[in-house]
Amino acid sequence: MTEKNYVNGEWVESETGDTVEVENPADPSEVVASYQQSSRADATEAVEAAAAAQDEWAATPGPERGRVLRAAGNWLAERKEGLTEQLVAEEGKAYAEASGEVQRAIDIFHYFAGKAADLGGTVKGPSAGDQHLYTVKEPVGVAALITPWNYPIAIPAWKLAPALAAGNTVVLKPASVAPGPAVELAKALDEAGLPAGALNVVTGPGSTVGTEFIEYEAVDAVSFTGSSEVGQMVYDQATDAGKRVQTELGGKNPTVVSASADPAEAADIVANGGFGTTGQSCTACSRAVVHEDVYDEFVDELVDRAESVDIGPGLDHEMGPQVSADELESTLDYIEIAQDEGATLAAGGGTPESAETESGYFVEPTVFTDVDSDMRIAQEEVFGPVVAVIEVGDFEEALDVANDVDYGLSASVVTDDHTEANRFVDEIEAGVAKVNAKTTGLELHVPFGGFKRSSSETWREQGDEGLEFYTIEKTVYDSY
Ligand code: NAD
Repeated sequence: MTEKNYVNGEWVESETGDTVEVENPADPSEVVASYQQSSRADATEAVEAAAAAQDEWAATPGPERGRVLRAAGNWLAERKEGLTEQLVAEEGKAYAEASGEVQRAIDIFHYFAGKAADLGGTVKGPSAGDQHLYTVKEPVGVAALITPWNYPIAIPAWKLAPALAAGNTVVLKPASVAPGPAVELAKALDEAGLPAGALNVVTGPGSTVGTEFIEYEAVDAVSFTGSSEVGQMVYDQATDAGKRVQTELGGKNPTVVSASADPAEAADIVANGGFGTTGQSCTACSRAVVHEDVYDEFVDELVDRAESVDIGPGLDHEMGPQVSADELESTLDYIEIAQDEGATLAAGGGTPESAETESGYFVEPTVFTDVDSDMRIAQEEVFGPVVAVIEVGDFEEALDVANDVDYGLSASVVTDDHTEANRFVDEIEAGVAKVNAKTTGLELHVPFGGFKRSSSETWREQGDEGLEFYTIEKTVYDSY
């Protein structure tokens, strides 16, 4: 099956005539679908369609925009099982994780459907008589959304729904490894009655479609989620071009295990955060910072959990493959680097051997001990199921180590000590701080974003704050 681009309300082929196949990472011999390999000219056409549709969509009453979003959410809900299977086939994650992600996308559309009628604005007391003084929120204009492969339906949804709710029109470029779910979002909105041009989805390389979206004059705002390396480039390019920009990037997320923690409970939390979604979450736990009093017991428990994960194709196993050959190679490289640096391989470290896993991009959940905070395995984002365990002598040192990275996305502490829990919340340098919980897993109605290299720190995504990026406030002095 060859999917097309969605431009100006029509399903169209790229002017290049080229398509690219997406393979199933659990069995790369299976081609899931083909997508358009679009050029800059295709991207230009999409931006122009979005610009032409902007006034009409902005003038559509908020409750009506909300009705379209609600109908799109309903369309997705009716197809939840098929969408889940597609997500497993393209991205590889386990069925339960994929199903949860599709549900998240449905919930996001329903949440922002309500918000569309309620964008806010404030009434102020005027200094002059015979005057009304108030603010209104207007859409920014054309929003370009560039998204990664690891949450291929939830991330496009959490950008798209607030952008449309606020009256912006959109051009969207999903990651080339798993673009299918974003194309399904276009089908949902098309069926829901979104006017032509209000959403345009163009698949293809970042270097052509992405660059055009960032640089083309008619784009007003750029929302990017992806790696810190590409994100920094995108941020520089987009700000140079005078756009509003938000970049949400990588992580090196710690879980601190304090002396008061139950080692078994802490190991559950770290294993869930570190090995869930095959470690391919921006909020995945990749460092366990563990007090020496509970270190040995914690390591035994964590190794136990790593060795008991059921690995195989996501449709019927607990942990699926990495998304691509490149991602698998990168994880295996980091496993080698860690050993060269002197870390001890305590669990995993290779590719599993079974008939079901022999051809896919599978890797074992991996635990390193004897890790120093300055090793690359403790500093750089691996984006695979690899946890580095760092031993510390006291809580003070644990906080220092937890903060000793360039990233600051999500962090958690496992402790029974009330003071430690509160000090952690106060002192951790991360956009998400959790007590006695895993680093992954976010609610859709609260803000999300990182500190330091994990985010441009300009705007937050999700919840009410997620709308801010897509609106601009106008102050009205109305004298009579
Ligand atoms: P990536 O940076 O390689 O790609 C992200 C998107 O950018 C893709 O659509 C890609 O095609 C596009 N792109 C690539 N080069 C471009 C360019 N020069 N100009 C414009 N666009 C370009 O990231 P990825 O591998 O798809 O995703 C994994 C990364 O995303 C990890 O680092 C992860 O931590 C991060 N992530 C962050 C969050 C968050 O909210 N903070 C959420 C999920 C993933």
